[in-house]
Amino acid sequence: MDDKKENGELNLTFERKYAFDIWDEAVTKGAFDFCEGYKEFLNRARSERQAVKFIVEAAKNVGFKELEHVGNVKDKGFSFPVYSVNRGKAVVLARPGRQPVSDGMRIMMAHLDTPHLDLKVRPLYENEHVAFLKTQYYGGIKKYQWTNLPLAMSGIVARQDGTTIEVEVGADPKDPVLMITDIAPHLDKIQSKEKIDDAIPAETLNIVLGSIGAKAKDGDKEKEKDAVKKQVLQLLNGKYGIAEEDFVSADIELLPAGGARDLGLDRSMVAAPGQDDRSCAYDILRAFLDAGQPEYCTIAVFMDKEEIGSQGATSSQSNFFIDFASELLYLETGAHDENVLRDAFSKTKAVSADTTFAFDPDYPEVFDSLNTARLGAGVAIEKYTGGGGKYSSSEATAEFVAYIRNVLNANGIVWQTGGGGKIDIGGGATISMYFSRLNMDIVDLSIPVLSVHAPFEISSKADIYSAYLAYKAFFESK
Ligand code: MN
Ligand code: MN
Repeated sequence: MDDKKENGELNLTFERKYAFDIWDEAVTKGAFDFCEGYKEFLNRARSERQAVKFIVEAAKNVGFKELEHVGNVKDKGFSFPVYSVNRGKAVVLARPGRQPVSDGMRIMMAHLDTPHLDLKVRPLYENEHVAFLKTQYYGGIKKYQWTNLPLAMSGIVARQDGTTIEVEVGADPKDPVLMITDIAPHLDKIQSKEKIDDAIPAETLNIVLGSIGAKAKDGDKEKEKDAVKKQVLQLLNGKYGIAEEDFVSADIELLPAGGARDLGLDRSMVAAPGQDDRSCAYDILRAFLDAGQPEYCTIAVFMDKEEIGSQGATSSQSNFFIDFASELLYLETGAHDENVLRDAFSKTKAVSADTTFAFDPDYPEVFDSLNTARLGAGVAIEKYTGGGGKYSSSEATAEFVAYIRNVLNANGIVWQTGGGGKIDIGGGATISMYFSRLNMDIVDLSIPVLSVHAPFEISSKADIYSAYLAYKAFFESK
């Protein structure tokens, strides 16, 4: 790019290009077709668990085998693609390359969790003849965005007999939806004086669940108490066989009801919940499965708990990934050797795929215009993420960014650069810093999104497709 001649002139400038403005009809159609599959993924993989199921199904369909404990795979060699699931909430896929694992890997990673509302462990109560569920928000949300919005509930209840029950309400258009109330503007003399963040206290994010009371047989006042709560429990027991105590051992989350929709008259964008980071997760999955025979062992990592700081056994700070990589080496060599593993990591090239901020023309004051990604201008290289003095960032080396730039340019990928907000205002971290601890080269290749962390986020089909092409090129890189 830097020194290519255009019309006989040296092109020394680095201009931002908008993919749909330069792609021909066939590539544009490719992007639109690709996003039909993307929307289906968003609709089917609403929770971390559903995303893991989708990914495992896609991998099994093309012959991936579950990597069980070493005893089961001993002496088989690493000649077939494998996957491993961590507690139903994170998953890793691997394909053998022409070169051994000990020569290094090509790893891409995204996170499957997304900002949402969780049910509290003791959620159910009745107030003024209405049954409610108390929630606690997960990740960074703007609380006011979650009131008066049709919500759907999705997750599992683990019963003490060891069985789990899937709970799903509101995703199907025929289902009832759930909702959080808000005050009428006529009466709103308190909220309107508050800062927007304080206007909706977290403890008011309560889900309206029902309003019919169970009939008390003999008009007994005691039996009439909490009649609606009792009636709701009857419904829950009839449908799922659960009782109030079962909420204690449940993972149930709420996301906006209603699926992914095309956005704009030209249908160039997608509006959907949870595109941070399921846009990158879908692109990694497709790129990983579509890539040709890789030179190096390729690994696709889908983690949980990024939005709350990557804490926990299913997060990027767990040993799950390291153990998985060690199993691959065992498959290959018949031994667990920490020195060989560490050496392999040091030769590894990795890309973290997460969403970044797209420049929002209505709020130019929070962005550095020159260094913020634009919606539709392709996948964004982020040399570092984090904020302020590059805190919470694993800055990639100049050499590794040059390597990635070369992969993108050699494959004709439309790309740009991305960054956080203005330095003094804020930014966001990704999981790259946790993988950089393994002593591997890593950089972020991001998808720009508008309304990040809102109930409905906005992406450009051009960026979804450009990122897919970029990730595929990375997996195939030598
Ligand atoms: Mn993210
Ligand atoms: Mn996020």
